[in-house]
Amino acid sequence: MKRIIYWFRNDLRVHDNEGFLKATQQADEVIPVYCFDPRHFAETSLGFTKTGVFRAQFLLESVQDLRRSLRNLDADLVVRTGKPETVLFEMAQMLDATAIYTSKEVTQEETQVEADLTKKLKTKNVDFEQFWSSTLYHPKDLPFWFAKLPDVFTDFRKAVERSSKVRPTFEDPTEILYPAGVEAGRMPAINDLIPLATVPEIDPRGVLPFRGGETEALKRLQAYIWEHDQLKVYKETRNQMLGADYSSKFSVWLSLGCLSPRRVYEEVKRYERERVSNDSTYWLVFELIWRDYFRFVALKFGTRIFKTPGIKNDLVTKWVRNVPLFQKWIDGTTGVPLVDANMRELKETGFMSNRGRQNVASFLAKDLGIDWTWGAAWFESQLIDYDVCSNWGNWNYVAGVGNDPRENRYFNIHFQATRYDADGSYVKHWLPELEGVPAKQVHQVWTLSRADQQRFGAILGADYPMPIINANKWLK
Ligand SMILES: Cc1cc2nc3c(=O)[nH]c(=O)nc-3n(C[C@H](O)[C@H](O)[C@H](O)COP(=O)(O)OP(=O)(O)OC[C@H]3O[C@@H](n4cnc5c(N)ncnc54)[C@H](O)[C@@H]3O)c2cc1C
Repeated sequence: MKRIIYWFRNDLRVHDNEGFLKATQQADEVIPVYCFDPRHFAETSLGFTKTGVFRAQFLLESVQDLRRSLRNLDADLVVRTGKPETVLFEMAQMLDATAIYTSKEVTQEETQVEADLTKKLKTKNVDFEQFWSSTLYHPKDLPFWFAKLPDVFTDFRKAVERSSKVRPTFEDPTEILYPAGVEAGRMPAINDLIPLATVPEIDPRGVLPFRGGETEALKRLQAYIWEHDQLKVYKETRNQMLGADYSSKFSVWLSLGCLSPRRVYEEVKRYERERVSNDSTYWLVFELIWRDYFRFVALKFGTRIFKTPGIKNDLVTKWVRNVPLFQKWIDGTTGVPLVDANMRELKETGFMSNRGRQNVASFLAKDLGIDWTWGAAWFESQLIDYDVCSNWGNWNYVAGVGNDPRENRYFNIHFQATRYDADGSYVKHWLPELEGVPAKQVHQVWTLSRADQQRFGAILGADYPMPIINANKWLK
């Protein structure tokens, strides 16, 4: 009798899930499990929870959706709360499991859990098998060892495009033999995970009313590519900041594995065959290769991606650790409209565009000189698409301690604002106090005369803050 526990982690899907499929094919009985790890919801040293309410809610919805899908397949999803290395170990013994299958993670906290669990399972002769499920390219298909991973993205991309193939997706399981008498357990409520938390309301100003789960992920894939027909213009729209369709928004589902990157790839290829193949269709895949790259970078550099000196091991830059300034950045009250609008969007919805992320990260690290790891930690807490490798990898990059081939990359926030929000509609969307300020002046409100402030209904220091840095440097 072969009984396999399939431990779902950041692969909350039935489609293209090699490990889960193999478990269903190889076992006489399969017990799918998800375990909420209390450490993921603990308070950080910066005073906020490692997982904030938007992300927690999205996770709950994703697990709930997976449970629904498995129930539709006459199985179930066992849900537990506790340290997975303890919960899974006890469960394996109690249920007489012969093996635990799961997906493979790459960063320290996750691999530590894997190591602790394996060690315990060995003593009971329970197998532990892991499957790679998170990237477009399988690591075994890369044309180099991780130690030799190119330090420049373009070199990596060209090499994989030349020499590697994206593997086809795996089929869905046809039959899951779930044993009788296994108590599936109750889904936790949000305040079981984060004390006193309530289900966050969906802000109608947000880009999309995001809902977690594979079902929503596949709906969005269909809507963005086929119904809204947006893929053919992706390259021209991807730097915008307002609306549902300027970019795919796939990241929120990719991050928890509700959506497989190979599934996205196959859909792009089908679109290219059936509708159009152009720079835009290529560019979405190009961006997915960035995502892969950060995962492999995390494998190569280990815990360095989380540390202030970064991948580069920059021991020269002196970082500021100023809590009140950091709080102004978090709250979107820096007096720099583009930064504030983006930070308020993040705080009120759990999402921010890529253009926004680059600007606010650069502002924190390069203009305020604040320890960039604080910013990355805030993003980790807030972003519903938080992905450990993409987040910390991008922050390394923008803060100038990563593997950016361009030395001293710097975002002139005023230039960025006038280029990507020329009519000011984005900042006015999130900063209604600036509604009356003409587009030409809205990105440099700090230069308004007292008379103009009164005329436009935006008094500096009362309706909207004075900038916390010398913002005139950008105007020179
Ligand atoms: C400071 C900073 C932090 C970030 N943190 C995260 C994070 O925690 N999780 C996350 O998924 N992305 C992160 N990104 C990357 C990027 O901003 C988001 O992937 C993107 O905004 C998601 O929106 P989308 O799905 O509409 O993207 P699209 O433009 O539609 O791109 C398609 C997909 O490509 C991938 N992608 C696009 N850009 C990048 C990139 N720069 N790096 C890695 N993958 C990319 C994503 O999976 C995305 O879903 C971060 C970027 C910055 C600058």
